[in-house]
Amino acid sequence: MIKKVYITECGYCVNDLSKVYEGYRKEKVNFPANCVIIEHSTEGWILFDTGYSELIYKSGLIGRVYNVLNPTFIDEKDNIKNKLSKINVKCEDISYVVMSHFHPDHIGGLNYFNNAKIVTSKGNFEELKCSTIHSLIFKNMIPKNIEGRIDVVEDTHTRLKVSDYLEGYDLFDDGEIILVNLRGHSKGQLGMLLKRGNLFFVADSYWREDEINQDIKLKLIARMIQSSYNNYVNTQKYLKDYLASNTEIKLIASHEIVTDEEVQKYAREDFNIEKLH
Ligand SMILES: [Zn+2]
Repeated sequence: MIKKVYITECGYCVNDLSKVYEGYRKEKVNFPANCVIIEHSTEGWILFDTGYSELIYKSGLIGRVYNVLNPTFIDEKDNIKNKLSKINVKCEDISYVVMSHFHPDHIGGLNYFNNAKIVTSKGNFEELKCSTIHSLIFKNMIPKNIEGRIDVVEDTHTRLKVSDYLEGYDLFDDGEIILVNLRGHSKGQLGMLLKRGNLFFVADSYWREDEINQDIKLKLIARMIQSSYNNYVNTQKYLKDYLASNTEIKLIASHEIVTDEEVQKYAREDFNIEKLH
């Protein structure tokens, strides 16, 4: 059973909305790299993504290009290791790291967790093994022993129906943490549905809520970053369909700004959640 959930930002990038979306005026905004930390009563500590780390500045030519196109800011005090230390959790205490996908704003801290099982999808693992420049996987962020520690959910868990269009996997078979295939942004992007908390962490299924709420479209350059733009659009349709019949669920994307006030609204007597600064 989930005892406690923390949402925390590990660095951010800055982008001009007019370069990303159709019909926007020039406006620079911050896109935080959110991570989720879960304390589970029998399985220990679980992470969903690991944010940026200082490795983004030590990633060679590809890293420099990334930083020019997508200026990135991460202070050592904000990396996932130091965020965990604020709640007295050591890196060795993490039992599972669930990877939504392997882009640098999600895997920056992965090297800190050498004891953890790395849970991901078949599509993500395939992309990791046969990455091209389009996969945007920075090799310096991938732990050397990753293959022996990967748990591919499609191979180890029973598939379950989340909705007419969405399928997922119950991580610990207790109905609490459902990992859901949300393909498109990466070949096998995974989201995380916390059933009891009514929260659905949808990774990079969208970058701003407007994409889902107001049908804002990506510009060509932003479409090209997606593994499959067609699947990206379909995933947004599937999420809208899911929300229509599950109105109590709140979607949270990896790069949305989630305020303390919002997080407080998600907390209930039987669901303990807070924002970790
Ligand atoms: Zn991404």
